[in-house]
Amino acid sequence: MTLQQAETPPMPISRRDAIRLGMGGAMASLLPNLAVNGRAVAADSPKDAAAKSIATEEDRNFFEREIESFLPDKIFDAHAHLFKQGTVSWDLKGLPPQVGYPEYQALIQDLHPKRRTAALFLPAFSPDKKDLLPQCNEWISQQVALSKDCVGGFFVKPEDDPEWVRQEVKRLKLRGFKCYHTMAAVTPTWETQIPDYLPEQLVKVAGEEGWSITLHMVRSRAAADEGNQRWIERYCRQYPNLTLILAHSARGFQPAHNLEGLHNLKGLDNLYFDTSANCEPIAHQAIMRIIGHKKMLYGSDFHVSHLRGRSVAVADSFLWLYEETPVWKEKQGTIKPVMVGLENLRSLKWACWSERLSDNAVEDIFWNNAAKLFGIS
Ligand SMILES: [Zn+2]
Repeated sequence: MTLQQAETPPMPISRRDAIRLGMGGAMASLLPNLAVNGRAVAADSPKDAAAKSIATEEDRNFFEREIESFLPDKIFDAHAHLFKQGTVSWDLKGLPPQVGYPEYQALIQDLHPKRRTAALFLPAFSPDKKDLLPQCNEWISQQVALSKDCVGGFFVKPEDDPEWVRQEVKRLKLRGFKCYHTMAAVTPTWETQIPDYLPEQLVKVAGEEGWSITLHMVRSRAAADEGNQRWIERYCRQYPNLTLILAHSARGFQPAHNLEGLHNLKGLDNLYFDTSANCEPIAHQAIMRIIGHKKMLYGSDFHVSHLRGRSVAVADSFLWLYEETPVWKEKQGTIKPVMVGLENLRSLKWACWSERLSDNAVEDIFWNNAAKLFGIS
C-alpha cells in the first residue's frame, strides 16, 4: 500500500448517515466520524491549550449515549462567554481562572468532541467588576483575532454614548452588542423593560452598522409579556438591518411563555433565537413550529454549559437545579447530574426529533444559519 492510499479518506459516510440508514448506534460507532477524518476538523483546533476536560464519567457516558449520533460535524456556538482573569469573582469548579480562545476550544470538547467549533463570543464579568468592562471588551477582541471563523460582541451599558460605542466596536473589530438587565437603573432589574438596559439609541447604531444584539429578556413571562413583545417588534421593524437574537430560546425556560407569546413575534425577518442553556424541548419546538428553524442558532452558553444541573419549568415559572442544590438524593438512589450543556443538547435533540427535522435542518441550526448571518464559510 502506498502512502497516498493509506491516507485516502475513508468512505464518506458519517455516523449520522448510519443512524438515518438504520445501522444503529453500535454499528454506527464503528464507522469513522467525518469530524475526525474529513475536512470538518478545525485547522486551528487546540493542540496544547492550557485547559483540560472537566467531564466526569457520567458526562462522557451521557454524551456517547445521547448526543454523539445527533451532533453534526460543524458547530457554530452563537452564545459563548470568555473571561479574563481578575474580571470575574466566581470560582467555577474545575474551570481555569481565565478562558480565552484556546481554553474555550479545549473545554468545549466536553460538549462537541472532535467537531469544528466556531463561535460568537460575548464578555463575561462579575457584577462587582463592572468597572473592568473595558478590559472585558478588549479581551473578547483579542481572542476573536486569534481565530479565523469567530466573531465577538461588545458589552454595552444603557448609559453608553452611542457614538463612542460605534467607534469602540469598530476599533475592536467586533460586530454586535451584548446587554444585560443588571445594568438597568431601575429595580428590581428582573422586571425591567427592554429599553432600560437596551436603549433605542444603541439599537439604532447596531441597525445602521448591520450588527447583531444578543438579548436575554427578563420579566416574569418573557416572550408572553406584552411589554417585551412591543419593544422587540418595534426594534426589529424600525431597524431592519439589525439582527436581534433572543437568548436562551427566547428565555423560554418556561415553554408556556413561548407557546403563548411567539405568535405575536411572527414575520420579523431580523429576529433570531439562540438555544443556549435552555433544557426544555418544548421551548425549542415552539420556535421551530411557530417561527421556523431557519431563525435558530445553537448556543452553549459556555461557561454555564460546564456547570452541572439543568433548568426546570414549573408552575408559570422555572427554576435551576445545580450540583449543589440538595435534590439529588432520591428514593431510588442518588442522581449524578451532568453538564447543563449536555442537558441542553439533549433537549434540542428531542425537539428536532419531535418536529421531524431533516438532517439538513439540524445542520442549519448548528451551523448554516449562523454562518450565513455572520458571513463565515
Ligand atoms: Zn450567557
